[in-house]
Amino acid sequence: MTLDLAAKVRDVPDFPKEGILFKDVMPLIADAEYFAESIRQLAEWSRPRNADLVLGAEARGFIFGGALAYELGAGFVPARKPGKLPWETVEATYDLEYGTDSLQIHRDAIGEGARVIVLDDVLATGGTAKAKCELVEQLGGEVVGVVFLIELTFLNGRDRLAGYDVHSLIQY
Ligand code: AMP
Repeated sequence: MTLDLAAKVRDVPDFPKEGILFKDVMPLIADAEYFAESIRQLAEWSRPRNADLVLGAEARGFIFGGALAYELGAGFVPARKPGKLPWETVEATYDLEYGTDSLQIHRDAIGEGARVIVLDDVLATGGTAKAKCELVEQLGGEVVGVVFLIELTFLNGRDRLAGYDVHSLIQY
């Protein structure tokens, strides 16, 4: 029997601010069986796409991305907030509800023609995922898939990611 991953996602109302229903995946990653099942399902979709690299952003993207990369036999590229990475970086900026934010990766993290899976835990508006795809492409890599644990379908994040091969394990 396949585990129902959604059973281990906790809804936290009004976090980080009023009106947001936060999808908390900490119960899922703390449960050995559920965590393994989530990685198994992410890998099942990703494997045929023959990725060289998985790219994930801090902090939850590191947890799922690291495990997924290992499972695929791929490398892992961390995307971080500005000022955190020690080497030369490239940057992409995306819109938030109020203002903008940026993510950086190392300039030498992705080689020309590298096949990259972009991963995040939650697809909301799609802005951060789009920024990650732009980072891959700035360095000449190819985004061969964009994969999420959770998709908030009512926010239409897929529209922002038109043209990419997008998949999610749980939809709300
Ligand atoms: P977005 O750029 O709008 O798609 O936002 C995606 C990022 O914000 C992801 O990295 C998520 O971890 C986080 N996020 C946005 N909305 C939620 C939510 N309702 N619950 C948990 N995380 C969220």
